[in-house]
Amino acid sequence: MKEYIDRLKEEHTLTREGFETLLSRRDADTHAYALEQAVKIRQQIYGRDIYIRGLVEVSSYCKNNCYYCGIRSGNKKASRYRLTPDEILDCCREGYQLGFRTFVLQGGEDAWYTDEILTAVIQDIKKDFPDCAVTLSLGERSKESYRRLYAAGADRYLLRHETATEEHYRKLHPPNLSLTDRKTCLKDLKEAGYQVGAGFMVGSPGQTYAHLAEDLLFLRKLSPHMVGIGPFLSHQDTPFAHEPNGDLDLTLFLLALIRLMLPKVLLPSTTALGTLHPEGRKLGILAGCNVVMPNLSPSGVREKYLLYDNKIATGLEAAESIDLLKKQMEEIGYKIVCARGDYPAS
Ligand code: SAM
Repeated sequence: MKEYIDRLKEEHTLTREGFETLLSRRDADTHAYALEQAVKIRQQIYGRDIYIRGLVEVSSYCKNNCYYCGIRSGNKKASRYRLTPDEILDCCREGYQLGFRTFVLQGGEDAWYTDEILTAVIQDIKKDFPDCAVTLSLGERSKESYRRLYAAGADRYLLRHETATEEHYRKLHPPNLSLTDRKTCLKDLKEAGYQVGAGFMVGSPGQTYAHLAEDLLFLRKLSPHMVGIGPFLSHQDTPFAHEPNGDLDLTLFLLALIRLMLPKVLLPSTTALGTLHPEGRKLGILAGCNVVMPNLSPSGVREKYLLYDNKIATGLEAAESIDLLKKQMEEIGYKIVCARGDYPAS
């Protein structure tokens, strides 16, 4: 299996069958080798630097009803909140003091955030913190909307494709959502000029190695600047309440493959990984990740943005505990840096 890793490292892709074989037949040696190579590549590009992003969860209202997500519109038990523009700016102010130079505004698809409101928020953040990047993760919007938000100063946009296989997309989403629309959004975002992020959950219900191979090929073709992957974690008030959580080792292995396939990619060690395993964040870094996204939302709303059960929001996960995170990264030989952390120019 090591020859597959070497080929991926040299050619930055494998065939569909190659990826499927690698995923299904990997053993402990292959796993260790993939992670070792991924770390080497990450080191060549980013050294020992780890970028941080302050995550502001702006709204738990969502018009969509994705079967896996705790804030789906059909979950009548979810507590809903939305931050006002002033509250979002307060989060950024606090984050700036703590050393964050990227703010990620993420939320459900909430029509309250019109282009006018978002444009003003982005412009205010850029005015108050001109040395910071703004990342949006607000779901599917029109091409015109993406363009307007980019013109207002937004730098990056995260929109996971969730799965690149039509039939699997159908299993995870209600009929009004489509993979074609999702892909169109990613194309529109790229054309608008954003640094774009795609990604998927590992172990989402019904997922096979063939689906994952398709996801890797899709990412290779899209060649995004960022890739967000994390384990699927069940939420008690969703149709997938009783589905098993995604696997830690498979997630780490996929992170390593993504680093080998897209060497310069900005790759976060996600909250879901930190929720699945107490050392998850650290293990992600040791698999080739170079980004962490601590939670900068007001503490009163953190427990309401519950995408899955037991989501962590305190301790190392909290932006205000940045010193603890710095220490943890230093323990494994890495350094949190106070920088925008853009995708490197070629
Ligand atoms: N609404 C925006 C969107 O659709 O891109 C951003 C918010 S959405 C909640 C962010 C991501 O959370 C999704 O892309 C999905 O992959 C992830 N997510 C949702 N439910 C999850 C679960 N049960 N386990 C793990 N990740 C989940």
